[in-house]
Amino acid sequence: MNSPEPLQPPEGIGEAPSRPSANHLQAAMQAALGRQREAFLREGPPSLKVRLDRLDRALSLLLRHQDEICNALSADFGHRSREQTLITDVMVSVRALRHAMRHVRHWMRPERRAVDFPLNLVGAQARIEYQPKGVVGLISPWNFPISLIFVPLAGILSAGNRVMIKPSELTPTTSDLVARLLAGAFSEAEVAVFVGGPEVGAAFCRLPFDHLMYTGSTAVGRLVMRAAAENLVPLTLELGGKSPVVISRSADLADAATKIMAGKMLNAGQVCLAPDYVLLPEESVEPFVAHAQAAVRRMFPSLRDNPDYTSVINERHVQRLRAYLEDARSRGARLVEINPAGEDFSQQSAHKLPPTLLLDVTDDMKVMQEEIFGPLLPLRPYRWLSEAIEYINSHDRPLALYYFGHDPHEEERVLHCTVSGGVTINDVIMHFVQQDLPFGGIGPSGMGRYGGVHGFREFSHARAVYTQTRLRRVLDLMRP
Ligand code: NAD
Repeated sequence: MNSPEPLQPPEGIGEAPSRPSANHLQAAMQAALGRQREAFLREGPPSLKVRLDRLDRALSLLLRHQDEICNALSADFGHRSREQTLITDVMVSVRALRHAMRHVRHWMRPERRAVDFPLNLVGAQARIEYQPKGVVGLISPWNFPISLIFVPLAGILSAGNRVMIKPSELTPTTSDLVARLLAGAFSEAEVAVFVGGPEVGAAFCRLPFDHLMYTGSTAVGRLVMRAAAENLVPLTLELGGKSPVVISRSADLADAATKIMAGKMLNAGQVCLAPDYVLLPEESVEPFVAHAQAAVRRMFPSLRDNPDYTSVINERHVQRLRAYLEDARSRGARLVEINPAGEDFSQQSAHKLPPTLLLDVTDDMKVMQEEIFGPLLPLRPYRWLSEAIEYINSHDRPLALYYFGHDPHEEERVLHCTVSGGVTINDVIMHFVQQDLPFGGIGPSGMGRYGGVHGFREFSHARAVYTQTRLRRVLDLMRP
C-alpha cells in the first residue's frame, strides 16, 4: 500500500487558519460580508482588467501549488491518485479559468434587444446589462475539493463578484491549504474562506448573500434552501442523486462496460456524476459482468497497492458502503467483487474498496434507494426499453443520464421521454468537462447551472435597460 506523501507547507503563504468558536465565526463571517459588500458598492462593476487580474491570480496559485494540492488531497483521502488529482481538480479548474479569461470580454458586453412596435420606429432602445450580483457565498463538498471551488470561481469572478467560501470539513488539509493560498492571492474583501463543519455551514447559509451556491447532498440542500429563503437569497444548488445508465441492445457491450467501469472507479465512485446503476437487456447481464471484470483487470491489475486507485474518504463511508452490500446480500442480491490481484482489503492504511457489481437487485434494497457514492454498481435487467424509461421516470430526476447504443430512434426516445440535469451518450461524465455546456441538476438533483458563459450568467443579474424615445409627440399619442 502506498502511504500518502507528506504534506509540505506551501512556500510564502501564512499559517494554517486557527479554529475559532462558532459564535466568533458567525460574527467574523457577518463582518466579512459587510466589508465585501461595502467594497463592492464602492468599486461598482469591475472593469475587464480587474476581472482578468482576479481570474489570473486564481489560475496562478493553482499552477504554482500543484504538488501541495496533490499531497493535501492524498493526505485527506488516505490515498488519492496524483494523476487523478492533476486531471480532475487542477486541470479541470485551470481550463475553466482560462476559458473565462478568453471569453469574459465578450460575455460582459451589453446585449441589444428588440423594442416593440411602434416605439422601435422612433428611436427607443433596449439592452441587457450583465451586472455583478455583489457578494456570492459558495459552499463546497469534499469529493473534488479544488475543482468544486475553482470552477464556480471562474463564473463568480468573471461576473465581477466578491466571494465567501465554506469548504468541506472532511478534507481538512485541502480546505486549510485552499484558505491559505487564497488568502495569499486575494484581499479578504475580494475572496474570504471560512473553514468548519455543518454548524459553520448552517451559520454561513443564514447570511444575506446576494447569491448562494451550494454543492453537496440533496438532504443538506433542503436545509440550505430553507435558510436562504429567510433572506430571499437566490440559489444555485448542485446536488446528488442516482444517475442511471441505459444500455441498448444496439450498444457495443465491451466498450460500454469499459467506459462505465472507468467512470465508476474514478475517485472510487465518489463522483456526483458517477454512473449509479445500469439498466440493461436481460440477456446482456452475464456478458456485461465478464466485460466489466476484463476491463477492471486491464485498467487496474491491482487495487489495494495501486497508486492509481483512490481510497474511500473515511471509515464512516466505508461502513456505509459495506452496509449497502450486506443489506443487498441479505435481501437476495448476488455480489460480484472484482479484485484482480486477490488482495486482502482488511490490511491497509487507507480505506480502499474493490469495485463490486450487484445482480438480482430489488427496490427494497438500500443500494437502489440511496445515492451510492462509492465503487458499487447494481445491474437491473429490462426486457423492453419502455421498462427502463418507466423505471427512471418513477424516481427522482437525476443529475445525469447515460445512454449507450447506436440506434438513433431509441436514443431519441430515451432523450425525449426522460428528464435529467445532463446527458452523455456513449460515455459517462464527459458533458461536465465541456466548457460550452451548462452543468446543473433539475428538481431533487439541483437548480441553476454553471460552466463557461452559463456560470457568468448565473452569477450576474441580467438587468433590463430601456431608453425612451425623445419624440415627445409619439408618447403623447399613447397618453390619456
Ligand atoms: P454534504 O452535504 O455533507 O456537505 C457539503 C457541504 O455542506 C460541506 O461543506 C458541509 O460542511 C456543508 N454542510 C453540512 N451541513 C450543512 C448545513 N446544515 N448547512 C449548510 N452547510 C452544511 O455533502 P458531501 O458529503 O460533502 O458531498 C457529497 C454529496 O454532494 C453527494 O450527494 C454528491 O452527489 C453531491 N455532489 C454534487 C455535485 C454536483 O455538482 N451536483 C458535486 C459534488 C458532490
